[in-house]
Amino acid sequence: MSVIEKLTKSAHLIDMNDIIREGNPTLRAVAKDVTFPLTEQEVILGEKMLQFLRNSQDPVMAEKMGLRGGVGLAAPQLDLSKRIIAILVPNLPDKEGNPPKEAYALQTVMYNAKVVAHSVQDAALAEGEGCLSVDREVPGYVVRHARVTVEYFDKEGEKHRIKLKGYNSIVVQHEIDHTNGIMFYDRINAKEPFAIKDGMLVIE
Ligand SMILES: [Zn+2]
Repeated sequence: MSVIEKLTKSAHLIDMNDIIREGNPTLRAVAKDVTFPLTEQEVILGEKMLQFLRNSQDPVMAEKMGLRGGVGLAAPQLDLSKRIIAILVPNLPDKEGNPPKEAYALQTVMYNAKVVAHSVQDAALAEGEGCLSVDREVPGYVVRHARVTVEYFDKEGEKHRIKLKGYNSIVVQHEIDHTNGIMFYDRINAKEPFAIKDGMLVIE
């Protein structure tokens, strides 16, 4: 059975066993564009990837399934060299602990996503980044663009162009990197992991 057949079986829920880890050459390959119309499997895969992220953020499901929490997943992490990414960025409760009006700041499956324009200004998360394909901490600022314009297609083949900033921008850049064979630590300054280049925005 092929990888995509296994992942898209109706009873299958993506879990940590489906995710390949650093050292696997698929993570270093430039993934192929999908073509439209998508196959049914490519549509289902996107839905399963988003479901994985939902499960990973649900304390009960995450515990039951042994999942690490994630906000993004790219098909190459499932050993599928296709340009498919899923993003699920939750909004946080307010200071009083009230739940947010909208549960998610960004919830989407993007096909053939690419950065078509970006700010001169760089940005990095204060906390650094992690990755479901990397079972170790790699400290340091992961230097990315502060703001990006991203073009992608949805499952219907409709083209979208969106502008992203802040945390959403970082997450989407991390996942698009996976489709280009780039790992987050490639963007950490090896000599000075916490160097702040002129004007770099540090996102708390
Ligand atoms: Zn990753």
